[in-house]
Amino acid sequence: MEKRHQVVIVGGGPVGVALAVELGLRGVACALVETRTKLQNIPKGQNLTQRTLEHFFFWGLADELRAARLMPPGYPIGEVTAYRNLMSDYWQAPPGRETVRPYYFQANDRLPQYRMEAVLRAKMAGLRNVESRFGWSAASVTQDDDGVRVEIAEEGGAGREVLEADYVVGCDGGHSLVRSQIGIGRGGTDFDQVMALVVFRSRELHEGLKRFPERSTYRVMHPDLHGYWQFFGRIDVGEGWFFHAPVPADSKKEEFDFQALLERAAGFKFAATLDHVGFWDLRVAVAEKYQVGRVFIAGDAAHSHPPYGAFGLNNGLEDAVNLGWKLAAVLQGCGGDRLLQSYTEERRPIFKEVAEDFIAARIKSDGEFLDRYNPDRNRAEFEQAWNDRVSDLGTRAQVYEPNYEGSPVVAGPPNGVSSAHGAHAFKARAGHHLTPTKLTSGRDVYEELSDGFTLLAFDAEDGDVAKFAEAARSMRVPLRQVRDSDGSARAAYEASLVLVRPDQYVVWTGDRAPSDVGALLARVTGRG
Ligand SMILES: Cc1cc2nc3c(=O)[nH]c(=O)nc-3n(C[C@H](O)[C@H](O)[C@H](O)COP(=O)(O)OP(=O)(O)OC[C@H]3O[C@@H](n4cnc5c(N)ncnc54)[C@H](O)[C@@H]3O)c2cc1C
Repeated sequence: MEKRHQVVIVGGGPVGVALAVELGLRGVACALVETRTKLQNIPKGQNLTQRTLEHFFFWGLADELRAARLMPPGYPIGEVTAYRNLMSDYWQAPPGRETVRPYYFQANDRLPQYRMEAVLRAKMAGLRNVESRFGWSAASVTQDDDGVRVEIAEEGGAGREVLEADYVVGCDGGHSLVRSQIGIGRGGTDFDQVMALVVFRSRELHEGLKRFPERSTYRVMHPDLHGYWQFFGRIDVGEGWFFHAPVPADSKKEEFDFQALLERAAGFKFAATLDHVGFWDLRVAVAEKYQVGRVFIAGDAAHSHPPYGAFGLNNGLEDAVNLGWKLAAVLQGCGGDRLLQSYTEERRPIFKEVAEDFIAARIKSDGEFLDRYNPDRNRAEFEQAWNDRVSDLGTRAQVYEPNYEGSPVVAGPPNGVSSAHGAHAFKARAGHHLTPTKLTSGRDVYEELSDGFTLLAFDAEDGDVAKFAEAARSMRVPLRQVRDSDGSARAAYEASLVLVRPDQYVVWTGDRAPSDVGALLARVTGRG
């Protein structure tokens, strides 16, 4: 007899396990299938944004995650950028993501991906409604109007099974089987550039970089490399490092002099023990859509790209949260199919812009800068342009503000467009992430949000609040009210009433209830 689940997740990397945690905490019965039994000891995505830490807060894991870090608490996460090599006279340590900290409830953090995955896996193991199948691989995915069937095979064994589900989510990485089985193509830029990855230990490198203020990453812009970076990142403070750099297309692991490459980028000789070396292709790929019928894709299966700017992992976790509450709402009877369709409509434009405007455009503009300015040709002109770049770098974190103003399940502005570009603001705006603010009680509004919808009511009319409560009750939409009356929250949000959805995005604001609250709730739950 085949076992039926509400959701089957294919792939137990960080995004698949995060989705299992999100769904499990929402009471959805799911199964997760993952080929590997052990975590890969490569640090990969380390830079976790403030937004990602908010997810961990809602999963009840923020403290566990911070305890799993390898860097000392408070060690700066930002970047040094140097010209030609790390011994150069030209270097900058611009402000980074810490400049947008006031707009988020949690501070950002930094730890190796495998340590973060271990925290998520431990949480998943404690969720009774999540069945995990490590050491099993999905072999095929088929669907009809009633459900989806996933054939799974035991790695290195004879076991074969079929899992049936209402929905399937492929979180199976860049080479996604699920994506190819449901026939979703990908577009994007292939830079035709091979990159080396080196994971190594060196105390001498740590000592040699003491000329800089404390930082976690060190980026080298070299005029010969056309805008591609050489990039050192700390795994810990003292000796653990990883390094990425462009290399010739015909490089072979066995013959390549990785030590010389590291020393050229550093600008000095140092002893190092290499723990891992490999090559990867610099490519940005975005799936044409993220859903076909009852099957979805998320994380690297939907979008993959080089580790330029820490977008991969953080965006994948946001996919999991966006899709997770929507699947739960539909399975639990308060969301419509329109809600599921909005997953592609909200998430895909964000990533497409990240790929084009924040990754590919940055490589291009760095390349143009290096072609245009050179201290050997005109030192004064180079120094002026180099110093001007500092302010440019500082504004990048400010304008990366993913929002869903154009979403069909948000009461956004007329002609709103969902975009990765925006401006951080305290004002509550439909389609944007809710900023934290203190309530009269001394608690933050984030500590009062429910896992369903929340109506924030600041100095609001009782009758207006009652209209929301009645409509939510009759439509079986979970809605918590948070009321406050000292005026400061209202002033911060510039509205008396703010409707927030389960992923902390604002869906509607106003000073009075709309004439038809039922129609508003139908829209934001995809039933309109
Ligand atoms: C060297 C390197 C450095 C990186 N650095 C950064 C960084 O600094 N910042 C950042 O944000 N991102 C970085 N990334 C990207 C980041 O690691 C990925 O975005 C992230 O791992 C994506 O998670 P995922 O769960 O979507 O996919 P993956 O981590 O690829 O996980 C997919 C999982 O699916 C499993 N799987 C595949 N096929 C099947 C199947 N048929 N059945 C069952 N299971 C299957 C795989 O075993 C795997 O565990 C880096 C990536 C690499 C490779």
